Amino acid sequence: MPGPASPKADFWHSVCQELKPLLAEEKYNTYIQPLEAQLSNGKLQLTAPNRFVRDWIKSNCLSLLRQACERSGAEAHVEVLDQPVPRRNPASSQAGTLPPLPGSRLMPQFTFDAFVTGPTNQVAYDAARHVARHRAYNPLLIYGGVGLGKTHLMHAVGHQLLVGLRQLRVAYVHSDTFINDYLSALRKVRASGTYGRSGSEALMEQFKHSYRSVDTLLLDDVQFLAGKESSQEQFYHTLNALLQDGRQIVLTCDKLPREVAGLETRVISRLGAGLMVNIEPPDLETRAAIVLAKAEAANAHCPGDVAMFIAKHIFSSVRELEGAYRTVEALSRFRGMPIDLPLAKQALKSHVASVARRITLEEIQKLVANYFQIRPSDLRSASRKRAIVRPRQIAMALAREHTDLSLPDIGESFGGRDHTTVINAVRRIQELRETDHNLDQQYKSLASILAQ
Ligand code: ADP
Ligand code: MG
Repeated sequence: MPGPASPKADFWHSVCQELKPLLAEEKYNTYIQPLEAQLSNGKLQLTAPNRFVRDWIKSNCLSLLRQACERSGAEAHVEVLDQPVPRRNPASSQAGTLPPLPGSRLMPQFTFDAFVTGPTNQVAYDAARHVARHRAYNPLLIYGGVGLGKTHLMHAVGHQLLVGLRQLRVAYVHSDTFINDYLSALRKVRASGTYGRSGSEALMEQFKHSYRSVDTLLLDDVQFLAGKESSQEQFYHTLNALLQDGRQIVLTCDKLPREVAGLETRVISRLGAGLMVNIEPPDLETRAAIVLAKAEAANAHCPGDVAMFIAKHIFSSVRELEGAYRTVEALSRFRGMPIDLPLAKQALKSHVASVARRITLEEIQKLVANYFQIRPSDLRSASRKRAIVRPRQIAMALAREHTDLSLPDIGESFGGRDHTTVINAVRRIQELRETDHNLDQQYKSLASILAQ
């Protein structure tokens, strides 16, 4: 923190120094640093950038603040206000009205409740929930491939914030919309001979004002900004302005920002200043749970074996999984028949055709043995050697994911092992895949060979 200039700042500075060691750094940065202090008649008035910071301070920090004040020689009157919201100030918006919110509405079905968690999206889910409750990470960036729930989680943050505070201005904007809004403001400015210079500036101001007057900006698919220099520059300034004001920002990207060609370094570093969380394709159990959840949301009954069937055959993205389930549901309605396995097989004939080739256990064992340069019979043997145990676990996990066989069946074909051995193997591989990048790659390449 730079050296204090006035006695007032001096006082607040020493209070801050007292508080700093008492709070987690992240809390200090989020809640204490943005406060503006005013000292008059021994009374400390703090202005928070928004209601969240104010409320947090009020419920978590008042007595700490009072004690710190006393030690610094002031009376213990502490008052916490939130900043008069700038857009309610007629001076800063024409006619005293709020600028329209940019972007589009939140999708009502994209809530936290409707989001099924599993090992590959739990971290992202937890981070999003945390932001919605405590606004602790800013910006929050969720990244991962298409159809994996990034937009869903982002909307869920928006819904949750609005539950707390209806009047909060939460804007969901796709990056494409941001670019279009900016370019159209720019075009108007350029074509605005008739407006004159100040008129054109007002047009650009309007654009900036509408984006900067939000309390929370949810900006989807920032990879769309790649290579678009002027839009990216505008985005950078928007980001800075909002962050400076303590507004919450949530972003999504289809990969790690530094892996997106055409994103500027300063943008990448801004995005990285908060928290980045990854979503990966869900595992088999989560996929089945998602199918069941979608059925429940549609008030339909989907038996477990049907959910498992869909989950086994559709693994590329949740969006496709949902599409596959809807196809089954549509056929069931059309025929006036309940959802069951034969109906699901019928409905998904074309979806499943490409992967319908039955993958056999022998095939899996042969492939895995080949890959690790051991013999298929080693996989079925009693050997506890590490060089055999790990490939055996991988083969079991692949069998679980890519065949319809039951756990006992799988155990049986690996040298008459118990089904709990299979469960443990599957679990172990799942854990390892999260921590061991190498093993994860091996698993993925084996799976992709099987899918051919
Ligand atoms: P992305 O933005 O990552 O491309 P979306 O958020 O649009 O993906 O998700 C695609 C579809 O899949 C949406 O209908 C969404 O509700 C659904 N979906 C994704 N992940 C989950 C999940 N974990 N639980 C329930 N539905 C999900
Ligand atoms: Mg999306």
